[in-house]
Order: sequence, then structure tokens, then C-alpha cells
Amino acid sequence: MKKIVIIGAVGGGATAAGQLRFYNPDVQVVVFDRDSTMSYAACGTPYVIGDVIEDEQSIVLTNPEKFKKKRDIDVKLRHEVKEIDRDAKKVIVHNLETGEQFEESYDALILAPGGSAIMPKIEGIHSSKVFTLRNFEDMQRIDRFIKNEKPKSCVVSGGGFIGLEMAENLKNLGLDVSLVHRSPAIMSILDTDISLMIEKELALQDVKLLTGTEMIKTEGKTITLSNGIELQADFIIMSVGLRPNTELAVKAGLKIGETGGIQTNEFMQTDDPSIYAIGDASENFDMVTGDPKRVPLASPAHRQAFIAARHILGDKIAKKGLLGTSVLKIFSLTAAMTGLNEKTIKDKKLESATITHHGISNAGYYPDHSKITLKVHYNPHTRKILGAQCIGGKGVDKRIDVIVTAIYGGLTIDDLQALELCYAPPYSSPKDPINMVGYKAINDQ
Ligand code: FAD
Repeated sequence: MKKIVIIGAVGGGATAAGQLRFYNPDVQVVVFDRDSTMSYAACGTPYVIGDVIEDEQSIVLTNPEKFKKKRDIDVKLRHEVKEIDRDAKKVIVHNLETGEQFEESYDALILAPGGSAIMPKIEGIHSSKVFTLRNFEDMQRIDRFIKNEKPKSCVVSGGGFIGLEMAENLKNLGLDVSLVHRSPAIMSILDTDISLMIEKELALQDVKLLTGTEMIKTEGKTITLSNGIELQADFIIMSVGLRPNTELAVKAGLKIGETGGIQTNEFMQTDDPSIYAIGDASENFDMVTGDPKRVPLASPAHRQAFIAARHILGDKIAKKGLLGTSVLKIFSLTAAMTGLNEKTIKDKKLESATITHHGISNAGYYPDHSKITLKVHYNPHTRKILGAQCIGGKGVDKRIDVIVTAIYGGLTIDDLQALELCYAPPYSSPKDPINMVGYKAINDQ
């Protein structure tokens, strides 16, 4: 019987295990995770802290007992894989509860070790009032702190997805929130004009934003920034980025790519064909440019888990590459993007043109409608879509999802006018913003 060992039992790892069993009842699957919770929705953790989700257990999708009973898969939590012996095809595992060390052999190994929150070297950073949010236990620590200590203020360091989601949730709990971000504009994956719209929303919601500066010291309640400003806060959330967990792969001599992730091919295989890497720790390639790319988000982790599992079982379904599709809720706004942004297009010196459409989500005479800005970058010669961004109230996510599908299907910017999208006044208009971008592109030729 073929034996597959998986390292990591959350986004990518648990999904790969489930897929292996779904498509083959006869393989043996063993999963190790050093944490004490498996298969939880990390994406839901800011909303548990913000009390939007009242029951923290509702984001835990299963546990080892249920997984064993339902899928006959062994998940061993609090077990850390210390080493991969590629010649002998086995891993060395440390039981963190008993201290016991043992070996587990494999025919195929899937690495889904995720990433770790980056902690910059700042004076005072190791205080009990400085938190990161990476896993279920981090969430519980922050949640307990808020409930027990009843803090009044927080500094969030880092204006990416997690920082912004935390800023919103903490503000909604009634805290004074300051958001510190090192670059001149928050959410660096977005074009600056779109980021600025988010910054406006933060100002409207009374979140104090400090860009172009960073924390250099924290002592007691005082946080000193590189521009000399001092802030006062009861606690700090550090959300300055994610470092892929590649230690095991490095030690095993697997190839690490230029983005810092474990390099993989279109079947998620590393340079050792028996070892696969998926999720936040893996590097794959950009669907538009073919360049190395790493997207530490849940959707790619799930797609990659499917591809790796099917490949291990003998089915060659190649990954088409990564787009980096993502969406963010920030108070009343939604911002979403896919593919290349302006900065990448410029850095790679790609030929591009842009159509920006300022419209509305659905019929203007219908009471519940909101403004929408849809911006699409395309190659002016091949007319192929390079990327898109959208911001506004409702319906932002579906416009980006349509563009994602268009990119996957190889449609041109001009094809967008022809799409027969669903319409009724509460949802859209007969000339949807997607169609409007297509009309404008044809007009611009
Ligand atoms: P993980 O899910 O992080 O799992 C890795 C596991 O491997 C961990 O449990 C770790 O303990 C374990 N591990 C590591 N090394 C070892 C070892 N040596 N031995 C044993 N176990 C090991 N994505 C979105 O698409 N949308 C969102 O809205 C979103 N929101 C998020 C909000 C937060 C607060 C966070 C933290 C993440 C969010 N993400 C979101 C990202 C998403 O959760 C991750 O991309 C996804 O979980 C990645 O899956 P993974 O399997 O690569 O890693």
C-alpha cells in the first residue's frame, strides 16, 4: 500500500489528505502538525477576535478523531517533523508531548508547513503585550488578553491584509486604533490610487494611519516610530509579513526559489520527485509572466493540494500558475485584485494599457447600490488581460472573479463587452462594469 506523509495539518496539508482519500480508498496517509489544532480557518481568526464570530470552535472544521473515523487518516498533532532523510525516504518526528523521537517512512511526502509571522528586531518586542496572529493559539491569546485586560488602545504594525482586518475588528470593538505602515501607501499589492481609497475609509472610520514610518522601540505603553513620533497603546499587533517555513526543505537540500519559497513544478513537485510542496511555503510560477511567484493565501493552497494529491495518485493535472487573486473587507469597502499590478508591470517593463471604469454595483434607481471602480490592465497588442483591481461597496468580488475566469480562459479585454452576465436591478445593470470596460477598450483602440 502506498504511504503518503504530510507535514502540516491546516490549509494545504489537511486538504491534500482529504483529497488523497477521496480519490483513493487504499493509500495510507499520515499527517503531522506541531500545533494543537488542525483544519481551522485561519482566515476567520480576526473575526473571532472582533466578536463577529462568537464561537471560536466554529472555525475548527475537524479534529484527528473525526478525521480518522470519517476518512481513515492518522493526524498526529503536537508532533514536529525535525528532519527529512531523502535517501531512506523517511522523516524524523519529535512528539512534543512525550519527548519521544521516531521515524516514519514514506513513498511520497507533501510539505505544507506554511509560514511564520516576521518579528523585526525591535527593542522591547518580546513584551507580553506584543502579539502576532498566525494560528489558532495566537488568536486565543489575543482574544483572552482583550477579554481579561479590557485594553482601550492598540497599535497595529503593518498595513497588509491581516493588519487591516485586525484594525477593523479592533475598532469595531471600540478600541482606539493606530495603524503604522512602513511604505508610503498601505496594501502594497494594490495600485496606489486604490490603496488611497482604503486610506480614506480608514480616516472616515477614525483609524489613525501613519505611513512611511515604522516601529523602532516599545517600552511600557510607549511606541516610538522611526520618524520620532511616540504613540501610546495598551498592546501591539505585529503584522509585518510572513516568512515561509523552509527550514526542513533547506536542511534536506531541496531547491529554494528566488521568492524564498520551496521551488515546485506544475505538479507541485520539488526537485526531489517524491517530495511535493504546497501552500504558503511553496514557490510556483506566475500565470501571466511565467516568473517565479509565491502567493501565501488559502485558495492557492487548496488548488495546489488537489494537484499534488492527484499527481501522487497518477493523474497529471498541471497547475496553470498563480494570479494572486485576493479580496479584503475594510469597514464599508471591499477591495479585490488579480494578476499583475501597476508596479509589477512597470518593474518588468511590460507593455500595458489600462481601462478604469467608475460605475455602480447595480441599478442606480434601486435603493441598495454602491460606487464601484474597476481598473483593468491589458497588453495593447495581444489585448490579453494582465491584471485587474476593483474597489467599492457590493459586487466587487464578483467583478474580479469574472476577470480571473477571463484570464484563465484566455479572453481579451475586448471580449469583456460580449459577456452575458446575470442582471436584475438588485444585482447589476444590463451594462455591467465588466461590459463597460470591454466597450471602453474597443473605443480606445
Ligand atoms: P498553514 O495553514 O499555516 O499550515 C501549516 C501548518 O504546518 C501549521 O499548523 C504549522 O504548525 C505546521 N508545521 C510547520 N512546520 C512543521 C513541522 N516541521 N512539523 C510539523 N508541523 C509543522 N488567505 C486567504 O486566501 N484569505 C483570507 O482571508 C485569509 N485570511 C487570513 C487571516 C489570517 C489571520 C491568517 C494568519 C492567514 C490568512 N490567510 C488568508 C492565509 C491562509 O490562512 C493561508 O494561506 C493558508 O492557511 C496556507 O495553508 P498552508 O497549508 O500553506 O499553511
